[in-house]
Amino acid sequence: MAIPARLSWALKKILASRETIQEAHSQHVYDADCFSIKKLCRALKGDQPTMQWRRIICNNRASPKALFITWLMLHNRLATKSRLYEWRILTDTTCVMCSDASETVSHLFFECPTSKQICTLCLQQIGITNHHRGLAEEVKVVAAKGHSKRPQNRLLLMFFAEVVYHIWQQRNLVFLEGLG
Ligand SMILES: [Zn+2]
Repeated sequence: MAIPARLSWALKKILASRETIQEAHSQHVYDADCFSIKKLCRALKGDQPTMQWRRIICNNRASPKALFITWLMLHNRLATKSRLYEWRILTDTTCVMCSDASETVSHLFFECPTSKQICTLCLQQIGITNHHRGLAEEVKVVAAKGHSKRPQNRLLLMFFAEVVYHIWQQRNLVFLEGLG
């Protein structure tokens, strides 16, 4: 059936989504024979990665500026050289800290030797030595501790955000020195 022009915006949207909802409907959106909105949302959303950033940012006692930079990092919104290159602002993506790889979030915060040194020194302060993992794994491990009330886990969340902030600060210093 054609969508009548006199309908409200919301009804038009619902009717326009008939096929999508029909597809999701066939994917077990019933919970004990009752229609489940939650399952329908999940079916529509697909296999998206879980929003681990909430566990890292919420109830984290790090400074607001550290939380902000960490939020940007987790959403890949920091102006790394790779992103500046995508926006055609820069012509090369070489990491300013080590000059040995492309400056992506993953490299800058979790693979760059200089960043690893900063991480090691900071995390040693709270007795953590086994933190050299890639971005996805590190975020998963830190997020898993997000709900814990143990003082060491609360400290880890704070340190994670503060370390991210200070690596970004250091990177900006070196980057700006290179421009000047
Ligand atoms: Zn590097």
